[in-house]
Amino acid sequence: MVADTEKGFFIDLSRCDACRGCQVACEQWHNQGTIPTKQTGNNQNPPDLNYECYKVVRFEEKVYNNKFEWLFFPEQCRHCFDAPCQAQADLEVEGAIITDPATGIVIYTEKTKELDFEAVREACPYNIPRQDPKTKLISKCDLCFDRVQNNMVPACVQTCHSGCMNYGSYKEMLALANKRLEEVKKDYPQAVLGNPDAVHIIYLFPFPPHDYYEYAVADSGEDSSQTSFA
Ligand code: SF4
Ligand code: SF4
Ligand code: SF4
Repeated sequence: MVADTEKGFFIDLSRCDACRGCQVACEQWHNQGTIPTKQTGNNQNPPDLNYECYKVVRFEEKVYNNKFEWLFFPEQCRHCFDAPCQAQADLEVEGAIITDPATGIVIYTEKTKELDFEAVREACPYNIPRQDPKTKLISKCDLCFDRVQNNMVPACVQTCHSGCMNYGSYKEMLALANKRLEEVKKDYPQAVLGNPDAVHIIYLFPFPPHDYYEYAVADSGEDSSQTSFA
């Protein structure tokens, strides 16, 4: 049973134009530094999430029915129900990864440096956790817990200009996602929601999710919209 206080995002990828404002806002709010990167042949930068970057806009180029399409994917932690990363952490150090019972936000604590990083990363169906090689702390999106606690909108949502990112209660976001899915399907018949019954961060994919990124949804099947892994 999902509580009315639990928070969620609805991320409508049909509206993302890859401005990367969300990526920058996340780094600014968390006072993160930058890690030098190299050009890898496309517009994506940095090339992956890292311990200083909790949100990265992924770029893919695809052709459907002889028509070129840019696929933009602003990726972040999904704040899973019964988070698999937390279940793995609890086997080693209880309290290293916790879930706020009111909001459902999954939080990584200082104790994550005592965990087996590879085991935590492998437990995540979306390949999200990253580790600082110096401090050994494991990190990821904290859903701007400090802002949420002060009734502020998460930084990435506040900066999004296109209507792609939406924030509210999980129940409101799920209703919005289902409504928007019906509209988007008129132009994109393959559109699906990514694991909406298993995560607080709900993506709408106009094209097959695995065309955006191999870990975009938690399964490898064609109908990912109803998959629950919890
Ligand atoms: S997406 Fe991965 S890191 Fe985030 S809560 Fe789920 S299992 Fe944990
Ligand atoms: S919710 Fe906050 S921490 Fe998470 S991606 Fe958005 S800005 Fe970054
Ligand atoms: S700010 Fe909004 S439109 Fe810009 S990249 Fe992020 S999600 Fe896409």
